[in-house]
Amino acid sequence: MFIFKRVDHLRDWIRVHKRDKRQIGFVPTMGALHDGHISLGVRCKAETDVTLVSIFVNPRQFNDPEDLKTYPRPIEQDLKMLRENGVDGVFLPDVEDIYPPGDLRTIDFEPGPAGEIMEGQFRPGHFAGMAEVVYRLLSITTPERLYMGQKDFQQFAIVRKLIAAFHLPVELVMCPTIREPNGLAMSSRNVRLSPGAREKAGLIYKLLQEGKQAFLAGDSMQRIKLHALDVLRKENFESEYIEVVDGYTLEILKDHDNAKQIVACCAVKVEGVRLIDNMIWKEG
Ligand code: AMP
Repeated sequence: MFIFKRVDHLRDWIRVHKRDKRQIGFVPTMGALHDGHISLGVRCKAETDVTLVSIFVNPRQFNDPEDLKTYPRPIEQDLKMLRENGVDGVFLPDVEDIYPPGDLRTIDFEPGPAGEIMEGQFRPGHFAGMAEVVYRLLSITTPERLYMGQKDFQQFAIVRKLIAAFHLPVELVMCPTIREPNGLAMSSRNVRLSPGAREKAGLIYKLLQEGKQAFLAGDSMQRIKLHALDVLRKENFESEYIEVVDGYTLEILKDHDNAKQIVACCAVKVEGVRLIDNMIWKEG
């Protein structure tokens, strides 16, 4: 496995693969890897000739400096996992490699209302910073395929808009959410939960599933949402939002709708740990 700290070294390696007509698949991450991240690498490996993973904790997408400072960075463990899973190359840039000092430019991309609801409302500036780094990483790595998780559905939908807006020559691939045995979506934050709360947090997945059944049976969104809020409150889980959205526009749907793709998304705080999850209720 090749490890690149410098952009020019990485680009030389990519140039050779392109010359030899090998297809490059790219998996951007912020490290602290778990099986969810690894599943993206495994899928990428199965579908492309060269699997490149980046680990970069992007300062521009953090609105809370404390969160940025304390973000876990177990780099040796991450590299071990990537090596064991047959990843070909890892890009480990420093902040100055991605954002050269003095270069304060941002890309001319506006996610619009899609970036202001749900995560956008609770994390101002998050999606602008995320789009900025994805654009810069794609410019450096020029992959044919980009692998991202459904776990961060709003992020995925905004990257889909970014790729369309700039006509970027990359195919975006959505990988399913990997879950713990009780249904809790895997996340680097899960280790901050007590064992009891981690077990109980499987409730979020259960409610998304029950909601889907009720939705398909014709129940009103309002009823489904109120039921979920009620169950969560009784467990002392603090719901930040539960929304059902059009998967392409991210417009909030008030009731049954003929949107192509319908997705239920939520953010819930358990013991102060913020957990996000979603489920596609209608596939487009
Ligand atoms: P992050 O390091 O949190 O920025 O995540 C990097 C990529 O891994 C993103 O595309 C995430 O959506 C994806 N990811 C995170 N958790 C999971 C999971 N439990 N299952 C599948 N993909 C995931």
